[in-house]
Amino acid sequence: MVFQNFNTNTVTNLSRITWRFVLMTLLFAANSWLVIGVATNSNGMAAIWSANAILIVAVLNAQRFDTVPLYAGAFVASVAANYWAGFDVATICSFSIANIAEVLAVKWIFLNTRDPQHDDFAPRNLARFVAIALVVPALSATIAVTGLSGSVQNAWTSWYLSDSLGLLVLVPSLGVLQKAYGDDKSIQSNIKQRIFGISIVVLVAITSAAALYQDNIPILFVVAIPVLIAAFQLGAVGAIAAVWTVAVIAICATLSGYGPIHQWTDETINHIYLLQGFLACQLLVALPVASVLEDRNRKAAALIEQERMLRVQAERSRRSAETIARRMALLATRDELTTLSTRGRILQRLEHAANRQTKLAGKLAIAIFDIDNFKSINDQFGHLAGDDVLRMVGRVSRQTLPMNFDIGRIGGEEFMVIMPGQSKTQASAFAELLRLAIMQGNQNDGCPPATISIGLAVSQDRHDCHALMLAADKALYAAKSNGRNRLRLAA
Ligand code: GH3
Ligand code: MG
Ligand code: MG
Repeated sequence: MVFQNFNTNTVTNLSRITWRFVLMTLLFAANSWLVIGVATNSNGMAAIWSANAILIVAVLNAQRFDTVPLYAGAFVASVAANYWAGFDVATICSFSIANIAEVLAVKWIFLNTRDPQHDDFAPRNLARFVAIALVVPALSATIAVTGLSGSVQNAWTSWYLSDSLGLLVLVPSLGVLQKAYGDDKSIQSNIKQRIFGISIVVLVAITSAAALYQDNIPILFVVAIPVLIAAFQLGAVGAIAAVWTVAVIAICATLSGYGPIHQWTDETINHIYLLQGFLACQLLVALPVASVLEDRNRKAAALIEQERMLRVQAERSRRSAETIARRMALLATRDELTTLSTRGRILQRLEHAANRQTKLAGKLAIAIFDIDNFKSINDQFGHLAGDDVLRMVGRVSRQTLPMNFDIGRIGGEEFMVIMPGQSKTQASAFAELLRLAIMQGNQNDGCPPATISIGLAVSQDRHDCHALMLAADKALYAAKSNGRNRLRLAA
């Protein structure tokens, strides 16, 4: 089992290492062969050295130990391509070492200076990468020319410019493409946006062709306009696509003998320098614009999301404040023990009923009732049993009396019932019903037996709450003094 695992892992690791080695050898060799091949047609000068950029992207994306086969593959490919190009051993060595040294230096400096809080295309990391791409090729160019004999000035400049441009154009391009087709959904687009994007790139192509495939008017500067439009409208992917379009058209036109770059001088080396400068400028204008815009868009999206969250939170707080206010209002209107209206609420209801009955020219009756000898119930059975009696009185009153009668607890063991539209006879009947129901109420609740005394007052019209209450209270007092557990009508 252990051996099996060991073998499987070893085979997997070996095949991964071989696969990386072979793939990088092929990619690096193909790029070098292509660029050296094109360069042979232009007196050995390469416009863009792409192989190192591809190696950099590969090693930046690989685990630490997986980079070894990548460097080895690139070195072998570099030796082979330079051998094929007919260089002597010293040149082959210095060029190949310079290539690998350049990639190692770029990777090391970038990984040690980049801000890991932001992605590689964010303005601050892009600025760092641009600085590295402008400085490190000077080092690799110096290593490269150590293998050459005679004047090295042209070789150094050519190496520096083509490597620097290769890094500047290719590394961000590959990074952005990787992002666009990777798992970052924010950068992917629908068909309509794609058609719009392609139209802008076509505009870049037409403008570039118009500027570079004619010798009459030197209008190289107009190319920047559609390139900037691409950066503004399409972001990083658009900027890269635009610069690539310009690069292909500019290189093809110039090397075929067309355009203002070719017109400038007879020296091919100068064509290449100008071409490199022109493409570097396009890139250094478009990429930072796209980078800053994307950064702003990201920040704006984050702010909008933050604002949305705050709104949701505010709405939640508003709702819970409303719920609390509702509960508080309920607490203020409902007596906790009996769930009947509180004193404040029942007096308010009485006021309201008085006004309403006055308007309707209807009668208004109120009953004030009080539990008999409640103090001795408390003394005999305890305060909790007393509370049970109060609860029972509340429940029985609610069950016995009609829904349109308001009932409230106006004091410790004192209650009020508002009976709108009731005559003396009707109101007395309801009051008696209530008295009898409370006498029997204890049977179901298991609380101590209790009786009530009731004072009833009825007014015909022009209802005066204060007078009604006084009259009912007086009647209640009479009921008490006449022996309790009875109803008395106000005179
Ligand atoms: P009366 O028949 O004349 O009304 O006599 P009473 O004992 O009922 O009257 P009194 O005014 O002497 O006593 C009322 C008692 O009600 C005193 C008080 O302790 C009690 N009480 C008031 N509120 C509550 C309450 O919320 N719970 C309980 N258990 N007792 C209460
Ligand atoms: Mg009492
Ligand atoms: Mg009392």
